[in-house]
Amino acid sequence: MGGGPAGMLLSHLLWRAEIDNVVVEQRSRDYVEARIRAGVIEQGTSDLLRSLGLGTRMDREGFVHGGVTISNARSPFRVDFMALVNRAVMVYGQTEIQKDLYDAGVGAGRPIVFEAENVQLHGLTEGNPSISYVRHGETASIDADYLAGCDGFHGVSRHAVPHDVRQEFERLYPFGWMGVLSETPPVSHELIYARHPRGFALCSMRNPMLSRYYIQCTADTDAASWTDDQFWDELRRRIPEEAATSLVTGPSIEKSVTPLRSYVAEPMQWGNLFLAGDAAHIVPPTGAKGLNLAFSDVYYLTEALAERYSTGSTTALDGYGATALRRVWKAVRFSWWMTAMLHTFDDAGEFEHRMQETELDYLAGSEAAQTAMAENYTGLPF
Ligand SMILES: Cc1cc2nc3c(=O)[nH]c(=O)nc-3n(C[C@H](O)[C@H](O)[C@H](O)COP(=O)(O)OP(=O)(O)OC[C@H]3O[C@@H](n4cnc5c(N)ncnc54)[C@H](O)[C@@H]3O)c2cc1C
Repeated sequence: MGGGPAGMLLSHLLWRAEIDNVVVEQRSRDYVEARIRAGVIEQGTSDLLRSLGLGTRMDREGFVHGGVTISNARSPFRVDFMALVNRAVMVYGQTEIQKDLYDAGVGAGRPIVFEAENVQLHGLTEGNPSISYVRHGETASIDADYLAGCDGFHGVSRHAVPHDVRQEFERLYPFGWMGVLSETPPVSHELIYARHPRGFALCSMRNPMLSRYYIQCTADTDAASWTDDQFWDELRRRIPEEAATSLVTGPSIEKSVTPLRSYVAEPMQWGNLFLAGDAAHIVPPTGAKGLNLAFSDVYYLTEALAERYSTGSTTALDGYGATALRRVWKAVRFSWWMTAMLHTFDDAGEFEHRMQETELDYLAGSEAAQTAMAENYTGLPF
């Protein structure tokens, strides 16, 4: 269930392991491809895409970033990933990865059902799992050995795990990010993460003529109530002076507000259903981890299914949730740490301010602290 990045990569990995599968997606291909989301890919994720033959366009059009700039009250310092851990990240939009995955799947004639409504899961604990859905008014169903819930945070799969079994761990942050996409050159060749008393800001990018900027806002902010000029003025106030001076602005081609949350649902397996990606966990975008976690989940799941079909053993499959969650929680911790360090919290007192200042001062001056950040930002192994 779900033809987002998790579902499509899982499908691709399964076909390579010669395991038949069908992807059932509730939206149209155009709709999924147009969703503006992630942009930062861990080294392990780009290596995985490359090893699957899905990295050609990424290597041509993406950008390798060997570090990031962190700014505290407009005073910047750089964390040099390459020097510290000899690893880098790739800036390549989720929209592009999604297109590459669909091109590969559709091009190979693999079954992908788009616009499936009223998707329902059956027989999860009775050993005869299946799904049913309605497409263009016609009801259809698919029998399977296993179901993979890759249908994102608002999907149906997670809710198939009974309430008395499902444990939820959640932190809702009292703010959101207003993001603007503009056809302008990025202000910096690497990302700038900025803490400022007026709130967090992030300068990111998609390509040499497409920039993505974010500012912290209240969770209930209506993006349409902000003019582009208001957005640019606020961004300039929060980022280092040099960046503010050289910032090239233009009309926004997309403007939206994203709420920030940390969320994990356990277990990630129920009967013959396995959850992967945003269906099981959400991280605030500060650490750029969501898409990468979706990919490591489906990597583990494929390994486990391949073992099951090649040897008949379900040991790895039974351990899938525990294996995936060990990496998930580390990414949750890292994203929470980045978020806590860089955002303005309305209820924070002077003690919390000093802690943030000290955290950033320590990070700016300690190679050990920067190494820990570099190791996590470029991605823990999977
Ligand atoms: C503004 C923003 C910025 C982000 N930045 C980053 C970043 O820089 N780096 C990063 O790693 N992550 C980032 N993320 C997170 C990343 O986008 C997600 O973690 C990623 O999309 C998860 O992929 P997924 O396939 O698990 O879920 P989704 O992308 O949500 O895909 C789920 C799919 O399931 C479909 N679906 C839903 N319900 C059903 C149903 N009932 N039946 C069938 N199909 C269904 C949906 O239409 C969708 O296509 C960001 C997210 C946002 C919102």
